[in-house]
Amino acid sequence: MTYVIAQPCTDVMDKSCLEECPVDCIYEGGRALYINPVECVECGACEPVCPVEAVYHKDDLPPEYQPALESNAAFFRLPLAGKAEPLGNPGGAAGVGPVAADSAFVAALPPKAAEQ
Ligand code: SF4
Ligand code: SF4
Repeated sequence: MTYVIAQPCTDVMDKSCLEECPVDCIYEGGRALYINPVECVECGACEPVCPVEAVYHKDDLPPEYQPALESNAAFFRLPLAGKAEPLGNPGGAAGVGPVAADSAFVAALPPKAAEQ
């Protein structure tokens, strides 16, 4: 079980959620942020602070955001572009810092500016 960051975060990356997470399990990618599903303790603190309503509990994801569940998990489980090893479960985003890569799903999304 976990909370999930969905498509509205892409190219917004307001980062309000980062400051709320008590276990530092929200990681910064190139175009979006990602919640580590293994490290998330489901406290829910990140959900209400997101200005674009990108954060959902896994069980409350609207149908159009369902791909974000696998996208968040894949960010940690699969090697990102330019990396030989997956990120895995580092135990805190502060020690990792911003990662200049995204899940394949987010990388393929159209730029936010193009949608408007
Ligand atoms: S607060 Fe929302 S838009 Fe900002 S980084 Fe977190 S999920 Fe993304
Ligand atoms: S639900 Fe809590 S532990 Fe999980 S990502 Fe949000 S703030 Fe962090």
